[in-house]
Amino acid sequence: MSPATVAIIGGGIGGLTLALALREHGITAEVHEQAPELREVGAAVALSANGTRVLQRLGLADGIARSSAAPTELVYRHWRDAHRIAAHPVGETYTRLFGAPYCGIHRADLQQLLSRAVGAEHVHLGHRLVGLDDTGERVRLDFADGTRTSAEIVVGADGVHSAVRTHLTGTDPAVYSGTSGFRGLVPRERLDLLPDPAAIQFWMGPGGHVLHYPIGDGEVINFLAVVDGPDRWDTPEWVLPASPAEITAAFDGWHPAVRQLVAATSLHQRWALFGQTPLHRWQQGRIALLGDAAHAMLPHHGQGANQTIEDAAALAALLARHDDHATALRRYEQLRRTRTRQVQRSSWVASDLLHLSDGPRADRRDSDLAAIDTTLRWIHGHDALAVTAG
Ligand SMILES: Cc1cc2nc3c(=O)[nH]c(=O)nc-3n(C[C@H](O)[C@H](O)[C@H](O)COP(=O)(O)OP(=O)(O)OC[C@H]3O[C@@H](n4cnc5c(N)ncnc54)[C@H](O)[C@@H]3O)c2cc1C
Repeated sequence: MSPATVAIIGGGIGGLTLALALREHGITAEVHEQAPELREVGAAVALSANGTRVLQRLGLADGIARSSAAPTELVYRHWRDAHRIAAHPVGETYTRLFGAPYCGIHRADLQQLLSRAVGAEHVHLGHRLVGLDDTGERVRLDFADGTRTSAEIVVGADGVHSAVRTHLTGTDPAVYSGTSGFRGLVPRERLDLLPDPAAIQFWMGPGGHVLHYPIGDGEVINFLAVVDGPDRWDTPEWVLPASPAEITAAFDGWHPAVRQLVAATSLHQRWALFGQTPLHRWQQGRIALLGDAAHAMLPHHGQGANQTIEDAAALAALLARHDDHATALRRYEQLRRTRTRQVQRSSWVASDLLHLSDGPRADRRDSDLAAIDTTLRWIHGHDALAVTAG
């Protein structure tokens, strides 16, 4: 593709990674973000090798190593008696196995690293997209503040409520999973009951699970505690206030370490967990979708952000390789739709497996977890760039 202007809608992890990846290929990209500042409060993200491999190639290895914590082990525990059902080394063993590290990082830190690398002059804040029109030659973009621009290619990296997706497909494919979650960032020193705080751990029990891992300098523990229900989520808000009593009641009877962890959150909120029915179309004309806009998924494999990063690497490489944008966008859709559907499907299955009551099905799951490092190879071992070359 000759020096093109790509307009990216959304300055989240996906949009910023794409801008950086395009620049590596000599393609100019401008990011338009609705928020007045890049800010992500109270939540972290686990990056697996399929994501960190891409970020390392974009020159962010040192920055990520400085701002993140590498868990020592991946541990699965019993919800009530805390016994270790399965454990796998992470650290260097993981890096050797999958070719790049695994780490926990605060979203704000990751966004900062990415936006600094992209350069403030290419990130246009306070730009909420309200209209777009593909004229065949260019795409015209209208923002809520009355400003306008145009670009040769437009990529909707505008998240799960994507305006670009609505323009392209006219649909909102979000599906409530019947599960909801509580989140928190808790200083490690307040968790004296927690065994192995330096590990990434799943506690699995009837109707719920808790995932936690260290972030930053390892002194803060990020957790996501998921429960079945409520059966329906009828409000348009995806996050509702939750009382401290409601959060602790959801884990009544669980091991004291879990109860201490969830009770320590200062975020008194319940997040509805939504997945998405797979989209048939990710692109049309000069417009394409990326990340959650195209394939929001349940967080049980910790893959939403990692898949977004894979999308960005693949799309940038294909736009650089093909002079004809239509071929690049079609090939991108073909490659990424297949891959992300598999991960989406698998994260729904994981949701059920993590919530089994004690019994024969849980026993079968527990013996499968012993081989999780080979089971997860197809996700963590994936090289999004190598695949585009095929
Ligand atoms: C509880 C929970 C835990 C998770 N944990 C993990 C994890 O451990 N690992 C992992 O890989 N993933 C995880 N995920 C998923 C991950 O957060 C998302 O998949 C990822 O952030 C998607 O990135 P994105 O860039 O596609 O979208 P977003 O990060 O949603 O970014 C979209 C951006 O677009 C902007 N925007 C929206 N509309 C407009 C508009 N009209 N105009 C301009 N800008 C607009 C938004 O302000 C936002 O900045 C988790 C998700 C949840 C809910």
